[in-house]
Amino acid sequence: MSTLLEIQNLCKQFGGLKAVNDVSFTVAEGEIVALLGPNGSGKTTVINMISGALPPTSGSIRLGGVVLSGLPPHKIAHKGVARTFQLVRALPSLTVLENVITALAFRGKPLWGAQARSRAEELLQQVGLEGRGPEHAADLTYIDQKRMELARALAADPRLLLLDEWLSGLNPTELRVGIDLIMSLRERGMTILLVEHIMEAVRALCSRAVVMNAGTKIADGPTAQVLADPAVVAAYLGD
Ligand code: ADP
Repeated sequence: MSTLLEIQNLCKQFGGLKAVNDVSFTVAEGEIVALLGPNGSGKTTVINMISGALPPTSGSIRLGGVVLSGLPPHKIAHKGVARTFQLVRALPSLTVLENVITALAFRGKPLWGAQARSRAEELLQQVGLEGRGPEHAADLTYIDQKRMELARALAADPRLLLLDEWLSGLNPTELRVGIDLIMSLRERGMTILLVEHIMEAVRALCSRAVVMNAGTKIADGPTAQVLADPAVVAAYLGD
């Protein structure tokens, strides 16, 4: 497997706080990797630096060899990084189809008109919302809002998908559906970096896990091995 995402010696300082301290890891093409750690360990800050929401203090981020660090968010999106947000950011007054069409209009190579409509319908089918395009986004159940948010992220044809607690807040039945949906993306070859607190999902989906604690990386390896690592267990117990 070739490396898609390469993070080297990444640091982010907020005043005197080293929120991310010399973190390096890679994500290979087609892999789902979990980014784990107790609250405040720096996970969201790493995701924010990958997507360009925050500039790194130092270190580098590359996607397929192309340097992303230092670029603004829209340029990073155009280079192939898409993210979903912890709080679902949709346009509630629009229909489901219009929400996805809007996302298609903002991608690097915008799609319009009939082309956008047919691509949007394809994306809705991919996330399990086929035929639901005319419904108002505001009327969707929580899991269906999550599906729509995923369709909007996929509208960019990303090479790397960042999922920040995308599964949080789902009931057990919805969680199973959400896990299956992410699995279906993996089967289509999508590369995913997943920040997730739900260990059932991490075990089911992620071949590898990277664990942070207080800004530094404390473990990186096969998921089962990492979750059994005493240093990882101790970090979580200290949470
Ligand atoms: P996690 O996602 O693992 O819960 P975060 O990346 O959100 O952790 O936060 C890591 C640390 O950085 C925390 O101590 C947090 O308070 C701090 N932090 C995060 N964002 C900012 C910011 N914009 N300004 C100052 N401190 C921040």
